Amino acid sequence: MDPEYDLIVVGGGPAGSTAAAAVAMRGHRVLLLERETFPRYQIGESLLPATVHGLCGILGVAEEVAEAGFTLKRGGTLRWGRDPKPWQFSFSMTPRLPEPTATAFQVERSRFDEILLRNAARVGAEVREGSTVRRVVADDERVRGVEYTDGDGNARTAYGRYVIDASGNTSRVHSGVGGRRVYSDFFRNLAVFGYFAGGRRLPEPNRGNIFCAAFDAGWLWYIPLRDDLTSVGAVISPEHTAAVQRDPRSAWQDMIRACPEVAELLDGVPAATEPPYDQVRVRKDWSYWKTSFWTPGMALVGDAACFVDPVLSSGVHLATYGALLAARAVNSALDGSVPEERGFAEFEARYRREYGVFYEFLIAFYDMERNDASYFWSAKKVTKVDSTEVAAFAELAGGLVSGDSAVLGPDRLGDHWSAAAAELEGAVGRLATTDDRVNPLLSTRVVGETFRTGNDLQEQALYGGPLDGTGPTGPGHLVASADGLGWDTARGTAAPR
Ligand code: FAD
Repeated sequence: MDPEYDLIVVGGGPAGSTAAAAVAMRGHRVLLLERETFPRYQIGESLLPATVHGLCGILGVAEEVAEAGFTLKRGGTLRWGRDPKPWQFSFSMTPRLPEPTATAFQVERSRFDEILLRNAARVGAEVREGSTVRRVVADDERVRGVEYTDGDGNARTAYGRYVIDASGNTSRVHSGVGGRRVYSDFFRNLAVFGYFAGGRRLPEPNRGNIFCAAFDAGWLWYIPLRDDLTSVGAVISPEHTAAVQRDPRSAWQDMIRACPEVAELLDGVPAATEPPYDQVRVRKDWSYWKTSFWTPGMALVGDAACFVDPVLSSGVHLATYGALLAARAVNSALDGSVPEERGFAEFEARYRREYGVFYEFLIAFYDMERNDASYFWSAKKVTKVDSTEVAAFAELAGGLVSGDSAVLGPDRLGDHWSAAAAELEGAVGRLATTDDRVNPLLSTRVVGETFRTGNDLQEQALYGGPLDGTGPTGPGHLVASADGLGWDTARGTAAPR
């Protein structure tokens, strides 16, 4: 029997909506099953230029997002490291982001995620909310579909040529791909967060920046969402778990009081009382990745596949970029242009690489004995992009390191930027081929000798092999099609470098 759908997507967050839209836009039959009814609350409010200008452009929602009235974000302000004074980074520090694109947004996720979900329906995906996937249907050869409970409580089965699991960090659907979820030895934090009905703003041009401030127990984020709404969260080490569990709101208030730079911005400002911002929430935010991201018939994207500490706001970027890579593999397999195995291998290699760049950089970033110049140096060392250290940091923080046309948007930025993308891709292709990629980071004080061995092993697991192996953007890699939705077989594979 022919499956009813070409693709079934589990979860309608940014990852799921991206995958569903990108496959539906190629005219394929897509079913998206989402447990909640949108709009629904989610954390992860600070976005990157790669999402706002690259990904949203490909999906056809850049204009709608730009007109939604979200706070404009030009970069970040940090009280971080040895320097007692705050320092800034701006996305415009890299020439790869010309002025109109050197921006992102601080978003209420309920509104942003709904724009993406409704867009998936608009471009042809069948979206069913209130539908919870219970398990994956598979035989000896491959995954064939899912069993789910629909909005009326009926048990149903849907069959598809492919299933993409984008059901986030709490669902167990990812076990359908097999493999394990590996938890980082380094990033094992706890987040406690809530909202204020206002709050002072940084002076222009940094008014819309995310402000991250380190203090004794960890660090705080301060995200201006609206004039009358500020998101404030503490990321703290696990020894504070008991206090947070006892009374999350008091623990949250204590953390804010312990960080004078943030406390000052909130002096006299009341906590928010409008739902869903009236609650103080707690999330374990350990970083993790699955040992495999796909199996025949099924792929994992977004938090279902991996998660990395939120200090550089990479979550939605990784989720949507990973979803686009998986959609390319599905589209190319469905039209017969790239064999399934080849397309999904490319998806996994590129996705792991993008995740790995953030992961490695953040290890250096958590060393508080350094200053901004030293962090910029680490960004250059980790990314190996062909630009200054400051620009390398902006490219990393902007989500541009993959050099993928999807995030740079060559059709919107012209040939010059296409060339920049190719050059960047080349640089990233060399990333995994030298030993010094990891060693300078591991020499930092905070990482130390004990951590080094564990990290080496974890890196091996993360990359699925030795670090000196061929990178995903190395010889013979696939090239994205002009619309960003598939692999361009006419252009063949890139020439060996
Ligand atoms: P989700 O957004 O979680 O969406 C998954 C969807 O699947 C949900 O709508 C859920 O209802 C649905 N679902 C679950 N189970 C099922 C099922 N069985 N059947 C059907 N549907 C199901 N990221 C940023 O970009 N910027 C930030 O500033 C940022 N800050 C963060 C701060 C903290 C403390 C944490 C923990 C994370 C932060 N993140 C941030 C990360 C961000 O929240 C996630 O990476 C992002 O939401 C992942 O998107 P997703 O689509 O994979 O998953």
